Amino acid sequence: MKITNNSVVELDYKLMDLNDKIWESSDEGGPWVYLHGYGELMPGLEEELQGKGIGQKLKIEMSPEQAYGPYEEDLCTQVPMEAFAQVENLTEGMRLAAEGQDGVHAVTVKKVTDDFVTIDANHPLAGQSVKVEVKVLSVRQATEEEISHGHVHQHDSCKNHHH
Ligand SMILES: [Zn+2]
Repeated sequence: MKITNNSVVELDYKLMDLNDKIWESSDEGGPWVYLHGYGELMPGLEEELQGKGIGQKLKIEMSPEQAYGPYEEDLCTQVPMEAFAQVENLTEGMRLAAEGQDGVHAVTVKKVTDDFVTIDANHPLAGQSVKVEVKVLSVRQATEEEISHGHVHQHDSCKNHHH
């Protein structure tokens, strides 16, 4: 079976920057499982995977536009230090989970002063070219329910109860 819109695809992957530093890989977090055609993956990678089948490997280099997008200064915000009272050893470069209106996002602590903390909601690889190596582990047709929700249901259940 070839990857097409509404395929559920499972990938072994390795995400690297141009210096070959590994940022994420399936060795640590398990394979990526996604619904093809819904923009869940980096646009450049999703495009390359179209029409590929089980066992196929890809090694691609992507511009920021094809990967995590440009770095946006607007995504940096200053938050009063009081908001971080619970965080131990707050340091620049630290990754935190921040709760926003539409869920929890990973943010990076960009700057710490006595009164304010600047947090950066850009993806850590925003504005950078990246390299990705993937291997297609499995491909199946999505169920009607998955297509109507626009995401994959693993282990036969929907973890998003907001539908
Ligand atoms: Zn669902």
